[in-house]
Amino acid sequence: MKRWKQQRLQNQAIQIGQALYQQNVDEVNINPEMDDIIDINSININNTIDDPIISNVNVSESRFLNDAIDKIKQLACDGPNIITEKDISCALVLLKKRYRLSARCMDDIISLLRTFNVPNVPSSWYRLKKSLTATQLTPIQSFICSECQEVSTSSALCSQCNCHFSSTNKPNYFFSFPIQSQVERILHYNRDILPTRRCYAVSMKDICDGALHQKLQSEIQESFLTLTLNVDGIQPNKGSQKTIWPILLVINELPLKRRFAIENIILAGVWPGPSKPSRTEMSIFFRPLVEELVTLEQGAKFQYQDDNNSSTSARIFLIGACCDKPAQALLQFLPEPIAAFGCGRCEVEGFMVRTEKEGNVRSFAMTLDAVEETYLRSNMRFDVLLDLKLLHEQIQQSFPMRKRKSLMEQHRLEEKGILGPCILRELSYFDVGRSFMADTLHNVYIGAFVCKLFEYFD
Ligand SMILES: [Zn+2]
Ligand SMILES: [Zn+2]
Repeated sequence: MKRWKQQRLQNQAIQIGQALYQQNVDEVNINPEMDDIIDINSININNTIDDPIISNVNVSESRFLNDAIDKIKQLACDGPNIITEKDISCALVLLKKRYRLSARCMDDIISLLRTFNVPNVPSSWYRLKKSLTATQLTPIQSFICSECQEVSTSSALCSQCNCHFSSTNKPNYFFSFPIQSQVERILHYNRDILPTRRCYAVSMKDICDGALHQKLQSEIQESFLTLTLNVDGIQPNKGSQKTIWPILLVINELPLKRRFAIENIILAGVWPGPSKPSRTEMSIFFRPLVEELVTLEQGAKFQYQDDNNSSTSARIFLIGACCDKPAQALLQFLPEPIAAFGCGRCEVEGFMVRTEKEGNVRSFAMTLDAVEETYLRSNMRFDVLLDLKLLHEQIQQSFPMRKRKSLMEQHRLEEKGILGPCILRELSYFDVGRSFMADTLHNVYIGAFVCKLFEYFD
């Protein structure tokens, strides 16, 4: 049985090799009908060659492969007889997929083709994969000057204030990736999400049933897409102090099943560390993304890059961010989540309580009356408090130093924790209070849920 399979594979490889050599791809007899009904996993010793097993599991995959093979055949018939490296790479990937060949086997086939002097054969399986997966993602590197806190394009000299960077005064840096081309690539494979489906939500099943999306549906006549953002520090190695901060985005209109698939994740920037960004650095890090989002809100054209060169246009809005509390505090320009006014949702100050182990911890517990008197964070409140903060700063300047401290303390209470401008305030459908969604992982599943578990098992 095994020998029969090997024989078949060899025949196939030889045929393809010969055809490629003779530049007659269309003469390759891949015989889709026959291959379609054989699933290698389902073959067992008792079956004979004449009794192939019909597999239902791989029907759709086989159909996809057959379509691809037909397409290659058709291309070979239509066009002039130049077989590019990409053509050969595609053919070999299909061959690997269909027969579940190992990477080593692919390397052998490649060496064989190269020994026969077949033109345009990639040098290795690794090279082949690289040539097919090469993306146009080119990061833009920017440096942050510690003197003027501005972005510099040069790593040697600040392009804003002309101060020199040295080995002791190394600027922090980050990478940003334009998102329009990434959205274009996702749209290419998910054309069903445009034009935007509009439906009156009777029940809340997904973010598109939420109040903000419903508002967009009624206000925006053109096709549009909405995004959810996440930024968080990840440790590349366990126990290491180094953190890397990627900015990730997903398209909310993609069905849940596809939304978080790795190929549909948009990478907008990377903060390579080694330490976490400060609030100011976070704002600078987000600047290129916010600038691009401001233009995308007005609408952009997306090419599908298909045979008909068709395209579509859509407006893009960031409507939510889902981050853990420390990351949200950086982005929202608020104090640490355990400090006074550290809540990202409301303007509660909180108070210190003694713990059983003689420690102190801040509690944000409130009476019902206090709940009614406390403002929720919102764009409107943010604008009011930021204006107030700027006014306070001016007043403080006019006071002598010795009186300044008590005044600052009083001002701090009035400013409700606002430490500076949240960069996402510049977007038209992002609310710097409500759009920061509840982080269910930390708040519910390992927050409230774990507390409850301890209660039950104590
Ligand atoms: Zn500078
Ligand atoms: Zn709160």
